[in-house]
Amino acid sequence: SNKQPQKAHPERQIKPAVIEWQPDGSPYSPVFDDVYFSRAGGLAETEHVFLQANNLLQRWRDKDQALADKEGKNGTFLLCELGFGTGLNFLACWKRWQQAQCKHLRLHYVSCEKHPLTLTDLTRALSQWPELAHWRDQLLAQYHDHTAGCHRLVFGNVTLDLYFGDALTQLRSHPARMPVDCWFLDGFTPPHNPELWQDDLLELIASRAAPGTTVSSYSVTGRVVRALKSYGFSVEKPPGFGHKRQMLKASLSAEPSEQVAANAKPQTSTNKPRPRAVVVGAGLAGATTAYALAKRGYAITVIDAAQEVASGASGNPTAVVQLRLNRQQDALWQFHLHCYLFAQRFYHQLDLASEQQIQWSPCGVLTLNSAYAKTRRRFEPGEFDHYPNHALAELTAEQSAQETGFDLTEAGLYLPEGGTINPKATTEFCLSHPAITVQLSSRVDSLHYEHDQWHLLDETNQSLVTADIVILANSFGIQGLDVSERFPVNPLRGQVSLIPATEISQTQHAVICGERYLTPANNGFHCVGASYVKGASDDAISAQEHKENREKLGIVGEVLALSEETPTQGRASFRGSSGDYLPLAGAIPDPLTPSRQYGGTRHLQSSASDNSVVSRLPGLYINAGHGSHGSVSCPLLAEYLASIIAGEPSPLSLELAGIVDPWRFDQREQKRLRKQNKA
Ligand code: SAM
Repeated sequence: SNKQPQKAHPERQIKPAVIEWQPDGSPYSPVFDDVYFSRAGGLAETEHVFLQANNLLQRWRDKDQALADKEGKNGTFLLCELGFGTGLNFLACWKRWQQAQCKHLRLHYVSCEKHPLTLTDLTRALSQWPELAHWRDQLLAQYHDHTAGCHRLVFGNVTLDLYFGDALTQLRSHPARMPVDCWFLDGFTPPHNPELWQDDLLELIASRAAPGTTVSSYSVTGRVVRALKSYGFSVEKPPGFGHKRQMLKASLSAEPSEQVAANAKPQTSTNKPRPRAVVVGAGLAGATTAYALAKRGYAITVIDAAQEVASGASGNPTAVVQLRLNRQQDALWQFHLHCYLFAQRFYHQLDLASEQQIQWSPCGVLTLNSAYAKTRRRFEPGEFDHYPNHALAELTAEQSAQETGFDLTEAGLYLPEGGTINPKATTEFCLSHPAITVQLSSRVDSLHYEHDQWHLLDETNQSLVTADIVILANSFGIQGLDVSERFPVNPLRGQVSLIPATEISQTQHAVICGERYLTPANNGFHCVGASYVKGASDDAISAQEHKENREKLGIVGEVLALSEETPTQGRASFRGSSGDYLPLAGAIPDPLTPSRQYGGTRHLQSSASDNSVVSRLPGLYINAGHGSHGSVSCPLLAEYLASIIAGEPSPLSLELAGIVDPWRFDQREQKRLRKQNKA
């Protein structure tokens, strides 16, 4: 039964690095019996073996210049590392990158790590390099969680994707979207770590290379050299660093040989002019998507039927950023955790960029056990042990009281890093990016594809705007458009109430969730929310829902000594709630695909992670159905969409992308029809 706590999933379980500190202060791995970097000078080794051998500074400058020569072009330089270790290579590379001062080129650095260093060990290891302090501190501020899978850390025009888990497994679960320009092979020496240096991994390296790709390593193991040669690389063995006689330096010639063509399919490059994009919907989903695209050099129009931005649930004064919990350590667990972790990083940075305009407050969120039990059963101690400690703490009743300062007499689940944002201000700030144009009072009634372009038409069939790429981020509004009406995103009315703070309630510092959430007082008011009313169609304030919000505070209202009077201020709006309470994000499948391409049930049963074979409508994407969790899921899904649109590596593995793929609904419908036909 689901009462049994599930066994941890081995592939989702990460074991941190075991470090032994050498007398000279450098880290050593007793498990692999190898050092993290040369004792003769780690930074100088990085410089020699990785930065110079791959001629990075020159290549970045040349690429950026080439992009500048073709006006309006943007591009990505993709670097992939085996073994993130102490992050020394990354920091040195990032520092060098800034010297290049690229204006059109972005650096995307993917680094695989099976055993991440703890934050403490990482801090200690990097303390050796004061010259890297500026970059190190930014890395340390974002590096603390070791959940398996991809952690996207964004530093201006540098993106770091940390793939935690076995390198081959992780790389395979993130299929190539563009060729890798440069590989750093730094995963301990092959004799000490044969598991990493499998033939399959070497084949993958070759399959993701293109003419011009370079590879370097401090190790010149014969097997690796032979494999690279067999894939068409020309291999040199220049002098190594320190006492090392040789190192490995390999490249694929810019003239693709037959061998290269056979082994390494060159993929479409991202270095093309950015097409024009339109986002339908000026709420948080649309604004974060437009913002992620704007940062990649796109010009975007955000169009909305309303007279103002954030007219739906995104217009609320406060949204709670909290983790959706899963009892099992499954793909959903991983998905929600990554959304939550990315949201925190995103809001932290946006808060700085907006000078606190978005009001990100990581004040902590406590959910009382009785509230949790309203929708699910109560949790037992230890049931959520598969969450990292910094993300989730189980509190006893006494600890709840200590943590909140109120005698809540109940055990709870506490998210120390959860908090609140002002979603309206967040939406407005994202939309204020100079590359974004907002077009209001424009209701899109239909979409028409002609001459390789989407024409967005109003009800009189007049063209409102034309684009190469369209992202439907208009919540349940997608049901009014023929290209997306089949996806179940329905309006779900919600009303928040503002409750005047009292002397006692002023001291509340964390969000407390009973049957309703209650945020700490802000400008003299707490926000309570939100009601759930299915099938409602009007957004007038309801006294009944205000009353309900107040009543459902239960013990929380009591211990905070809030007035029992029915609140009079608040806001009612509609969220877009999807058929399975999970968002829809991805390219919209061609509605004819299932019957055309998937005659047999065998295909229909295959998981949504096989989505690469589904044919999609050109340039048409969806980002909707975030329900009441948009503040958590929008940032990562916006980043995901912008990445796949730009042809860059995706922050979601195939499995996680499958969770949000709109195709799942087509699949289910096909299954249903098949069953019906059989009956
Ligand atoms: N580049 C690092 C730096 O700048 O500090 C040094 C990397 S260290 C020499 C090698 C790293 O490879 C270790 O952190 C180790 O945990 C990692 N590693 C070993 N086997 C791995 C595997 N199968 N998948 C991913 N990482 C692996």
